[in-house]
Amino acid sequence: MHEPKLFSAMATLRINPEVHPPWLRHDEHLRLPIPAIYPCHTKGRHLLSFVVGEAVYPGIVEAGGGVTFYFDYPATLEFIRTEQYCRFKRPWLSYLPFDYYRLPTVLRRVAANVATRTRMNTRDGFPSFPVEKSLQALIYVAEQSGTSTARGRLPKAHFVWPEGKRYCVVLSHDVDTEHGIAFMPRIVDLERSFGLSSSWNIVGDLFAPNRRTLDAVYEQGCEIGLHGHTHNLRLPYQSSQCIGKTIKHYDTVLRAYAIQGYRSPYYLRSPILFSALSSFFVYDSSVPDVDVFSLGVDRGGCCSIVPFRIGSILELPVTVPYEIILHMGIAPEKLNDFWQDKIQWIKEAGGMILVNTHPEPYYLKDPKVLGAYEELLTLLSGDGCAWYALPRDVAQWYKRIEATYRTSEVSGDLSNAAD
Ligand SMILES: [Zn+2]
Repeated sequence: MHEPKLFSAMATLRINPEVHPPWLRHDEHLRLPIPAIYPCHTKGRHLLSFVVGEAVYPGIVEAGGGVTFYFDYPATLEFIRTEQYCRFKRPWLSYLPFDYYRLPTVLRRVAANVATRTRMNTRDGFPSFPVEKSLQALIYVAEQSGTSTARGRLPKAHFVWPEGKRYCVVLSHDVDTEHGIAFMPRIVDLERSFGLSSSWNIVGDLFAPNRRTLDAVYEQGCEIGLHGHTHNLRLPYQSSQCIGKTIKHYDTVLRAYAIQGYRSPYYLRSPILFSALSSFFVYDSSVPDVDVFSLGVDRGGCCSIVPFRIGSILELPVTVPYEIILHMGIAPEKLNDFWQDKIQWIKEAGGMILVNTHPEPYYLKDPKVLGAYEELLTLLSGDGCAWYALPRDVAQWYKRIEATYRTSEVSGDLSNAAD
């Protein structure tokens, strides 16, 4: 259809004011790695252009009543959401002959501070931390630009929520130690006092000694997920068979708690891990939308604030890794100030506020952090525009929507797909 690919580039997006997202300021600078830009010789109205150096390349052009894309839109979505733009590395700590978590807490905190502080404070890299709007802007412009015919050929990337809700709120927690288990009931009670419920990702070897606590939390309507095996850093770097064998070991608890989701310790991830997880779980939630803190990548993230698929597993991106910024030196009392702009943007853009917290010492067990979390719950709860959901509910909704989109793509009409 197109002439051969011209090139791939990190491009600045220039958006026609007629299709400009309402949640984007006109002075915001958006950059995206575009894997395939094609030559354009058509004269017409440029709805989207890519600026590379001094040159301007049309990306979406309206001419003669039709709209043409001069870049590979589906490949761009895939390229960014599956983080093909960034370089992953196996952290050297994963080669330790013992579990990283057995190091004294103070040492681990120092290591985390050193690893994250510089990257977090560098705001001009891609993706920008904590808010990266470029991919969502591209999706918005693509879907605004399409005529009904063109839209039928586009992968549906914009997302809608049930019951006409404008955005989604999901609360999740990672439980790494016995300290975390002991503090779970306190957090469950706190969330219930706001009418909220949450998901708890538990390290595998904490299940057997803590069945009573976990049963009680599960019976109160919370969701349980798996958070790795022993909270080591090695699992994502092992063979698919080895990962499968490790997860099979937890077969009984997976069934007892109807576990559907996985979160990798330290947000470490690899293509082999995703592929192995897809045999056991409906969804994974190990990928931040912007990642400048995990040990596996200098700068990465899926840049998505809505669910999407990585191969056959559904990904629910973590958009508010709540306490991670404590490692930047931000005071617990300032946690909500830090996140408020991002939360507001996700609301306006119709995304998913997926919060992750830890009921562990130095995190939620610190009274100041707990106070901030309570304040966050106050800010998030009671909004009639929000869909408050557990991750498993989001996964179920995604599958329903996905089936509708597939049917709509055949008929070429997506306009009422979610009604
Ligand atoms: Zn963890």
